[in-house]
Amino acid sequence: MEDAPDTTVAGASVREPLHDAFGRPLRDLRISLTDRCNLRCTYCMPREVFGPDYAFLPESRMLSFPDILRIARVFVQSGVQKVHLTGGEPLLRRGVETLVRDLVELAGVREVAMTTNGVALSASRAQRLRDHGLRRITISLDALDDSIVRVMNGVGCPVSRVLEAISVAAAAGLAPVKINMVVRRGVNDGEIEPMAEYFRGTGHILRFIEYMDVGHTNKWRRDEVVPAVEILDRIGRRWPLEEVPPRHRGEVATRFRYVDGGGEIGVIASVTRPFCSACGRARLSSEGMLYTCLFADHGVDLTPALNSDRPQEELRLLLSGVWSGRVDRYSELRADAAPVADRVEMSRIGG
Ligand code: SAM
Ligand code: SF4
Ligand code: SF4
Repeated sequence: MEDAPDTTVAGASVREPLHDAFGRPLRDLRISLTDRCNLRCTYCMPREVFGPDYAFLPESRMLSFPDILRIARVFVQSGVQKVHLTGGEPLLRRGVETLVRDLVELAGVREVAMTTNGVALSASRAQRLRDHGLRRITISLDALDDSIVRVMNGVGCPVSRVLEAISVAAAAGLAPVKINMVVRRGVNDGEIEPMAEYFRGTGHILRFIEYMDVGHTNKWRRDEVVPAVEILDRIGRRWPLEEVPPRHRGEVATRFRYVDGGGEIGVIASVTRPFCSACGRARLSSEGMLYTCLFADHGVDLTPALNSDRPQEELRLLLSGVWSGRVDRYSELRADAAPVADRVEMSRIGG
């Protein structure tokens, strides 16, 4: 196992990033704060599976904020610059604002972001998150048509609730808000142009996500994927687009701007144009498992290291061993991949 040399950032010792077996640096950490959610999106937590009898993690097994912070510190010292809070629904964790503050204060962290469905985002909470250092928020919204939204989120939550969340996030200074729309053929693909039209000129960044075969409960079918090129073609015919160069290597969304100055959109083409070759994302589940791919069927338990006398060093060695042996590139191999029955669910691993 090769050790990377130390450098100094903001007075603290920060290691050069770990590199995996394909030379990909560790750059992003996505932390799932809970496997629970207040919605039941049909493509993520179908209610037939995630019903009243579903065995979610008991609270006693969820990582505490101090433990999350201890783990995050080691990731940051190993190269992570961006920490992303997700779930399940991250806003279901009480006091998440203090976690944001403590993460922001870790030397070496450039950005703390969050992806949420927005249902529990009040104006005061958005302001607290901003005041505690959150700088970027992504809010998921799959349509403008209220009846489509209510069906897709599985619990009849109205579109007005999410639109309100977007507006309070922007008012709290979290603009531009990124809006994630998962496109599923025959379900909400008719909403592509209405969503583009609605968010054009608002400063928010609408991102179209190809429907993915994450987990195993959503009964994904390839013919339900609307390829990013089709989405771009449909939008571009009405409002011409031009590609924007990526801000950094490994950016998941390919960015475009409206030629007429109407702002920016993105496409996340994980199915038709995989971006594994630049993927530097690690994922921490709410019970402390480390996953190195969204499509993993197993993870590595970090919690025993938390109980050791020297947790920081134990965690560092564990992480270094896992990351240096990483060979994940599921999306590039999807066409040839054998079906995996026990792939981890998106709600558990953090989307
Ligand atoms: N609950 C939060 C939310 O919905 O924003 C955060 C967690 S959710 C798993 C993160 C993102 O994953 C959301 O934008 C969601 O739309 C997306 N997602 C979930 N299942 C998906 C799937 N099968 N294909 C593509 N994206 C998916
Ligand atoms: Fe919940 Fe997000 Fe999954 Fe929808 S996509 S069920 S909001 S975790
Ligand atoms: Fe990264 Fe795995 Fe997605 Fe490829 S399939 S981009 S390795 S998370």
